[in-house]
Amino acid sequence: MAVFGIFGTKTANVASSTYYGLYALQHRGQASSGIVVNDDGVFHSYKDSGIVNEVFTPRVLDSLGLGQMALGNVRYGTSATKERINAEPMLVNHVKGKLAISHDGALVNYAELRRELELSGAIFHTANDVEVIAYIITKERLTAPSIEEAVSRALGKLKGGYSMLVMSPQKLIAARDENGLHPLCYGIRDNGEYVVASETCALATVGASFIREVEPGEVVVFSKDGVKSIRDNCDKKPERLCVFEYLYTARPDSVISGCSVHLARKRAGAFLAKAHPVEADVVIGAPDSGLDAAIGYAEQSGIPYGLGLIKNKYIGRTFIDPGQNVREDKVKIKLNPVAETVRDKRVVLVDDSIVRGTTMARVVKLLRDAGAKEIHVRSSAPEFLNPCYYGTDIGSKAELIATKCTAKEMAKLFGADSVGFLPLKDVFELGASGTCKGYCAACFNGEYPTEVPVDTGASKYESKISENKK
Ligand code: AMP
Repeated sequence: MAVFGIFGTKTANVASSTYYGLYALQHRGQASSGIVVNDDGVFHSYKDSGIVNEVFTPRVLDSLGLGQMALGNVRYGTSATKERINAEPMLVNHVKGKLAISHDGALVNYAELRRELELSGAIFHTANDVEVIAYIITKERLTAPSIEEAVSRALGKLKGGYSMLVMSPQKLIAARDENGLHPLCYGIRDNGEYVVASETCALATVGASFIREVEPGEVVVFSKDGVKSIRDNCDKKPERLCVFEYLYTARPDSVISGCSVHLARKRAGAFLAKAHPVEADVVIGAPDSGLDAAIGYAEQSGIPYGLGLIKNKYIGRTFIDPGQNVREDKVKIKLNPVAETVRDKRVVLVDDSIVRGTTMARVVKLLRDAGAKEIHVRSSAPEFLNPCYYGTDIGSKAELIATKCTAKEMAKLFGADSVGFLPLKDVFELGASGTCKGYCAACFNGEYPTEVPVDTGASKYESKISENKK
């Protein structure tokens, strides 16, 4: 999921800028897209299921008109939350005025908060955390002196991993959870417009120069009075940036906590080469997120890097689609080997992660069919052993292949000659050239920075909904 927002004081085509910003963040979610334009306090919005350039045809984009501020969202969801109704931004009308809210992440106390609100008479329309976020903020607003103060108070109640943007008629407000699990940064354009985005690649796309990141627990307010920071929730919890941002989620041209994602991935590849060396003729990467680590592996090992797999550019991230059947079909149409690179060769195949193992089994078969003599699988992430409760779709334990098989057993299952994972200790060094003080690696080591819901074995979203029916 990703957020993007723009704040200016002059009327401009903020819808178009938001469109390009979201387009740069498309890799973070493909289930739905939405934009809200604020023209002197009047909100114009459009959201629907689908990727940015499908949802926003030129006519739809035009219909949003001009404005001084806008915010947008791209979202991914599993079976229960991919329906149109869950699309963001969410629009809210309450006694203190209007709001539009867009978020990236998930609450761990969603079920609790929702039950509490429902028992006090609240009605919910969606299965999306943002609706709970909206209720908590508007409730706080009843007693808080300003909307930013309400957002700041809400942060203390909203437990989990999230970044969010809240737009009122006059202000754009950016906030990050107390552990700073998900990234959020802002910059400025030459025309004075402030731009806030989940990743720096979106700032670059709209010509904004990076100013800084929103800090864990910080609320940053953009208004006609300038930029204001509220730090009431800062330094309460240790910083815990999701390390999977470096390994998979973010785009390689983004910089998070002062460290290039591309460099972090190359570093992962180099660690992998040290931990799991092998005699081979060529190193190839599984596109797209395995490529940087493959380059790192090749550089460290001295084995030449080759272009071994071509990905159809017009297909999304396979894993994002719910349902095993859909996922398998997409793997089949997504990748094709370059036979010249792998035929009769001993191949090191680097991918960013092995979650259920579906992708890897298929890719190994493709390479065998193309004539690879040996295939040594290397994952630039450690073994996935635990679900994620902060918005990354890493299913329940039962779905994770590493909870059931050793690397040796996996090799057999995939038809590979060996399988090697990044050692856990190395994930904490991936952002070494940056400023991050600590990472969440709970999906690998089970050390969650917050309380977590009980793992029921069902998909998180399904369990969320059945929880709410009780
Ligand atoms: P699997 O086929 O279940 O083992 O999934 C592994 C593949 O999915 C890898 O190639 C990753 O690039 C990709 N992947 C890993 N985690 C995620 C995620 N949370 N969302 C979407 N794709 C993912």
